[in-house]
Amino acid sequence: MATPLCSYEEKSIKIEIYGGCNEIGGNSVVILDKGAGRKIIFDNGIRFSILRKFYRGSISPLGTAELWSVGAIPPKEIFEDADAVYITHFHLDHLGLLGLLPDGVRAYVPSKEVLESIADRYRRSGSWLNYIAPSQYLDIRSLEPFREDEFGVTPIPVSHSSYPSLSLIYRGSDSTIFYSGDLRVRGFQGDMLGVDTIRNIAWAVDNVLGGLGADFALLEGTNFSDVETPLSPQEFRSILWRILDTAALATISIDHTDLEILLDIIDIASMTGRKVVIASPRIISTIDSYAHVLKSKHLKKLSENISIATIDSIDEPPPLGITDITFIDDILRSPENYILIQDPIDFLEINRREARWGKDVVEKAIVLLTNPEPMDMAREEEERVLASWLYRLGAQIYRIRVSGHYYPHEFREIITSLKPKKLIPIHTEAPGTMILKFGKPRP
Ligand SMILES: [Zn+2]
Repeated sequence: MATPLCSYEEKSIKIEIYGGCNEIGGNSVVILDKGAGRKIIFDNGIRFSILRKFYRGSISPLGTAELWSVGAIPPKEIFEDADAVYITHFHLDHLGLLGLLPDGVRAYVPSKEVLESIADRYRRSGSWLNYIAPSQYLDIRSLEPFREDEFGVTPIPVSHSSYPSLSLIYRGSDSTIFYSGDLRVRGFQGDMLGVDTIRNIAWAVDNVLGGLGADFALLEGTNFSDVETPLSPQEFRSILWRILDTAALATISIDHTDLEILLDIIDIASMTGRKVVIASPRIISTIDSYAHVLKSKHLKKLSENISIATIDSIDEPPPLGITDITFIDDILRSPENYILIQDPIDFLEINRREARWGKDVVEKAIVLLTNPEPMDMAREEEERVLASWLYRLGAQIYRIRVSGHYYPHEFREIITSLKPKKLIPIHTEAPGTMILKFGKPRP
């Protein structure tokens, strides 16, 4: 039998944590409800802390058996006889390796279509990352926000650096559980996208929990243990505004599922007289899959305010009727009129292959690297190398981390609307600080 990292028991409910206990990244929570004869699992994360410890450079995972043996992914036994696995959002420390789930298990995800566009890329990776893609026999369903399903789980949309992101509420036989997934209190486009975290939690307390607080709150605490304070969306906006006040091409890297920041960049671009051009094939395919989850007004905002310019031609026509422009005829003629959303490695590649760009365009270019999560070491090293190249080419670099998570000073706001009886910290290296701040004995 697999041994959980932490476990809690009260009345008919047992909560076993197999990832995310005293660590950031790799959430996996098993809920056993004896009263209802039910076993459900929240998230299936890859544990980054373990990956970092055992793999680096040329030392890479031998295969999935080894990933299990070192504990980098949740033990396979926990999925046997599970009624359903719920994925809160598409970051890998929550999504994990769906390809390893047993065929009989039902997997709920925020959106089947968005999952498909993400999985497609990993299917071609030729490594253990292939297993991020689900097998064709897995029963996958899209979660429906604000609606309780047959197992008593209600998904609540929240703001995070990946869209869509959900918190989950479980109404069990004699206890209720709130599981945050990852969330922030103040996002970029909370109102517009319907991801106002506090308002949605308050709705859930009134309409799902009958006005009572949750018995257990499994609440993330990423920013409690982060020594570097990341910027809030509001601060990002004001910096971007100042950076754009120059006659140069601006290139911004964003997470391919970070719709909130993309919509915000579109707003700022239009206020500064620039056009947003997407040059990342990954982001283009994610946007395409958003056609299934977004309201038509959001799709209209995307299709009317962005263009696409790819270096190597992509197989399909641009999604949502978005216009296609070219680097040579459009962007290079008036670079100061554009914000290029691009993977910085791709930006570097085309510049190394020269000829594609006028020298002065690159020399003046501003490269803004954004990162929503605390970075892992491999990424950090890659970024250092990237920076050396960009400096050599003459570009100005800004590296900005915008938080996908709430700040410690916003903890009270969440607790006040959720009114939990017991707090179980998750996705943090400072659970004790959260318990102290909560002010009640640990269950
Ligand atoms: Zn996340």
